[in-house]
Amino acid sequence: MATSVKGRIEIDKERCKGCTFCIEFCPKKCISLSGELNLKGYFVAALDADNDCTGCGTCAVMCPEVAIEVQRG
Ligand code: SF4
Ligand code: SF4
Repeated sequence: MATSVKGRIEIDKERCKGCTFCIEFCPKKCISLSGELNLKGYFVAALDADNDCTGCGTCAVMCPEVAIEVQRG
């Protein structure tokens, strides 16, 4: 049976500025802007509940606010 790499990300809501870079660059298209505002007044990005995240790390590299932590496995 083939196994696929699973990953997940944690987004620090208070660092996020809603720039959408992570959303645009995620190869699996598994991040979206949520309807949740942080204390600075930005809508924050969130990992979709149903996602194919592989833990590739692209979103974390692209985030100018260093708001994303990636976990693999
Ligand atoms: S680690 Fe990769 S697959 Fe997972 S959310 Fe970030 S860019 Fe997308
Ligand atoms: S790239 Fe970073 S700051 Fe921009 S929306 Fe994603 S988590 Fe937020």
